[in-house]
Amino acid sequence: MTTKSRLLLIVTIMLLGLTAATIVNISLNFREYSINSAVEKSQMAANIVKDGLTAHMVNGIMDKRQYFLDKIATSNNIKSLWIARGDKVIAQYGEGLYTETIRDSIDREVLRTGESIQKITENAKNSTLRVTIPYKASTPIDNTNCISCHNVNRGDTLGIISMEFDISEMRSSGMMTILKILGINLLFIVVVLALINYYVTPYLNLFSNMQSGIKKAYSGDFTHQFFSKVGGDAKNVVEQMNSLFRKMQETFGDIKYNLATFIPQGCVSSSDPLYEAKTIISELSDIYKFKKTIELDASKDEVYTRIIDILKLKYHVGHFAFYEVNNVTSERKLIYSTEEDTICFEKTNKNALECRAYRTNSVTVSTEFPNLCQACIALDINYVCIPFNINHDISLTVSMTSQNRDEVELMKKNISSIRHYLEAAKPVIESQILMEKLKDTSLRDGMTGLYNRRFLEEIIDKIMSKANRHKDTYIIMMLDVDFFKMVNDTYGHDVGDKVIVALSKVLKNNIRESDLAIRYGGEEFLIMLCNATNEGAMQVAGKIHSAFGALSFDVGSTESLKKTLSIGIAKFPTDGDTIWKCIKYADTALYEAKHTGRNKIVEFTPEMFKSGEEF
Ligand code: GH3
Ligand code: MG
Ligand code: MG
Repeated sequence: MTTKSRLLLIVTIMLLGLTAATIVNISLNFREYSINSAVEKSQMAANIVKDGLTAHMVNGIMDKRQYFLDKIATSNNIKSLWIARGDKVIAQYGEGLYTETIRDSIDREVLRTGESIQKITENAKNSTLRVTIPYKASTPIDNTNCISCHNVNRGDTLGIISMEFDISEMRSSGMMTILKILGINLLFIVVVLALINYYVTPYLNLFSNMQSGIKKAYSGDFTHQFFSKVGGDAKNVVEQMNSLFRKMQETFGDIKYNLATFIPQGCVSSSDPLYEAKTIISELSDIYKFKKTIELDASKDEVYTRIIDILKLKYHVGHFAFYEVNNVTSERKLIYSTEEDTICFEKTNKNALECRAYRTNSVTVSTEFPNLCQACIALDINYVCIPFNINHDISLTVSMTSQNRDEVELMKKNISSIRHYLEAAKPVIESQILMEKLKDTSLRDGMTGLYNRRFLEEIIDKIMSKANRHKDTYIIMMLDVDFFKMVNDTYGHDVGDKVIVALSKVLKNNIRESDLAIRYGGEEFLIMLCNATNEGAMQVAGKIHSAFGALSFDVGSTESLKKTLSIGIAKFPTDGDTIWKCIKYADTALYEAKHTGRNKIVEFTPEMFKSGEEF
């Protein structure tokens, strides 16, 4: 129901209510007034009849009483008038005229009680007022001496006088009055409603126009034009609203345009520019905070951890894997996974080109096509894989999985937003990669590619604390080429370099990935075997020793050069409680090997200490 209809209905109900109350009030009062005046009239008529009968009696013309009664009835508009005698009068004077009989119970009751009765009888057509009054015996005290002729006592009921008045006319004139009032009131209501309609309609139209404008504005549409046929304040309001909406539309258009330069279209899909602006600004603010945080992160791995946290905490991705792909070797490394098993088959890690998302450099959504990525071996699992290239060397892949299609829809919605975070992380990861490269360069020996002594100094504390935590053991070997100086002196530095590089390869080939090989000095190398058995370590030392001894270096057209190696071995924590001490002991054992003939492997014993030497 419109506001206008509601208002008109309320006014109509109120006026009708007022009319009804007025009519009820008037009709009640009118009825009471009509009855009272009829009763008064009947009292007067009764008194006239009483006095007239008394006069007839006194004057001895009682035989003329019927004429008198008829006259009274006609001149007073009395419908019927009759009298009846009481028992004592009948006993003294007989029944009286044939009209003078008790006609009903009212006559009987008044004769019995001596009390007047008045009664209104109403039906659809007529209304009648019936009044019956007693005629009581009076004495000289009351002016008339009834008891002089009647054998009665003072106050006895001699008879009754009954009259019926037709008050139908009063009722119909009352009805007429009510109808007139009703008519006037209805006319008044119609006029009032017409006036309300005339004056209020333009305001109500303006109101509903404003309502629809505000409704549109709420959903982001500020194109609404307000209008009003009313002048004055309403016109001012309309003009102000129109200029406000124009301003809003222009401003939000500008904001949207400017924000789109930060975040590409499609990130927020809403027709409400206000909501869109709010969402983009909050997205930008989150990304800005993320960027500021990762800029201070110490390593690429820390940045990766934050990306993982964003996936978990902001996007609530329950199942996902996060990979780093080496673009040069196409090797893929799992950085983090919420699951124990990945959905990809094993060789994807060796050759990331098996991964459709990486190979095509486009987001791969399993719901788009059956068996979309051939590398996926999981059944009944949906995946959304986002590839992201960091630089020439590295790419990232986020592989989100779910069994629930609704979740996949949510993941799809978040793709561009997740890419914004990766975009924000890109320069930071790039600079971290550069830093790592620089650091790696400073910690590696350029000629052999092995770690250098600086690296050992940097890492030794970490190795020590890890060893203490995990009860790791290390077998430390110090290796030195025998009579190396002679190679340089005899064949030149280039040949010496070749020997050093060849030895480094022998070392790399004979240790595990968890072991460490370090170029400790010129042609002196350090090897640390983690958690190796004594036998195993001795085997490694033996293999290195013999493999190097078996090498022959081309030093001229006919000649070839063979070299030998001395190795000193110490064990952490058996020989010493710190790794530095054990390195020193390995060096002591190497010294022992050199001084006892070279080309041999010597294990450290405490007796090798020179007296008074301390570490
Ligand atoms: P020893 O059996 O006692 O070890 O005798 P050695 O001649 O090997 O003596 P030492 O270990 O002291 O000799 C080290 C030599 O290695 C000295 C240095 O000129 C040479 N050298 C150090 N670094 C390099 C390098 O990078 N290239 C080459 N060609 N020679 C190096
Ligand atoms: Mg040497
Ligand atoms: Mg040396």
